Amino acid sequence: MELLNIKNLDMLGKKVFIRCDFNVPMDEFSNISDDRRIRSAISTINFCLDQECSVILASHLGRPNGEAIDKYSLAPIARRIQHFLKKEVILASDVIGDDTISKANKLKSSQVLLLENLRFEAGETKNDKELSKKLASMADFYINDAFGVSHRAHSSVEGITHFFDKEHKAAGFLLQKEIDFFSKLIEQPVRPFAAIVGGSKVSGKLEALTNLLPRVDKILIGGGMAFTFLKQMGYDIGASLVENDLLEDAQHVMNEAKRLGVKFYLPVDVVAAEKFSQDSISKLTSTQEIPEGWMGLDIGPATVRLYREVLADVQTILWNGPMGVYEMDKFARGSNKIAHFVADSYATTVVGGGDTADLVQRIGLDEEISFISTGGGASLELLEGKILPGVAPLINKEA
Ligand code: AMP
Repeated sequence: MELLNIKNLDMLGKKVFIRCDFNVPMDEFSNISDDRRIRSAISTINFCLDQECSVILASHLGRPNGEAIDKYSLAPIARRIQHFLKKEVILASDVIGDDTISKANKLKSSQVLLLENLRFEAGETKNDKELSKKLASMADFYINDAFGVSHRAHSSVEGITHFFDKEHKAAGFLLQKEIDFFSKLIEQPVRPFAAIVGGSKVSGKLEALTNLLPRVDKILIGGGMAFTFLKQMGYDIGASLVENDLLEDAQHVMNEAKRLGVKFYLPVDVVAAEKFSQDSISKLTSTQEIPEGWMGLDIGPATVRLYREVLADVQTILWNGPMGVYEMDKFARGSNKIAHFVADSYATTVVGGGDTADLVQRIGLDEEISFISTGGGASLELLEGKILPGVAPLINKEA
């Protein structure tokens, strides 16, 4: 899929509006705990500054639900961008107020203005046309570099694109890179191709699983979602997470895998606990014999060995979703072991999904992965085979 290319725009000295995704995690002291998304946006911003553009940056942060709440101000973000750009970033007092519009109008070449949190405006998530129009009126060019939010039809992502023709809008480098990686993965992966799919529920990943099946050679299941499959196979899963209404769908996925010759792997053992808690007593058990009342919260060592064996000969690995409740140390071991194996692999390795990116980062393996996506929901929708609403208007129809 070829997108409108920022390099083809005639932007010299013009005003450009860049929709970024600065929705970064913060700790309890409001410090940015992971600035990957900010770092990833810097090349597009620098490219525009090198063209002597005046740059207007916009992003959302958290869910302030249409209210201007201090906690969700982009002030810490402005400081971090400033640190990376090594130049002043002016923070607007709101999104489309008079003062902000006047600051945008007066913005000089090579200056950078950051709007306040887009979601301080209730219209943003409703794709409000008036809001899109006001945002668009600030600049000559529109660039979308916010992959993480491109699956949302919001004012600054979708609505705004209608106010720019194809000579005045494009994808930023980050968006282009994300789309390139996932398109290649889905359309022409280097085989054998294995997908490791985990996380809490089957429901969140059913469509992705169905779309991946005809494209992969192997699927390895982990996390809470495994138990719906295991229950359908007639195993005793104790009190593990299960979606009883999806047992038939789980069977359908397994039938399809068989029909297509895709090897479908489920955990053979788990770390089971009596309570969903770090302090719970726990034990290793086979997935066929989880005791009544106990819940599987991580894959066990036999599964780790099996999955290592299965991944040894693959050329491409896609990983979406943790193997267990990795937020609790006691149930993080399975995910950590798989992360180390994926990181050490010579295959092309792609990690999608906020939780999986987070766990890889926590153990310091992020540099060892070929590509870590900045968008959890967005990457999942790409894997489901959807065209994202923020990307559709930027497709180069002439390519
Ligand atoms: P998702 O958002 O669907 O990718 O799921 C991620 C969440 O799944 C993480 O917060 C994990 O704690 C949770 N998870 C992983 N394995 C299990 C499990 N066996 N039981 C319950 N929750 C799990």
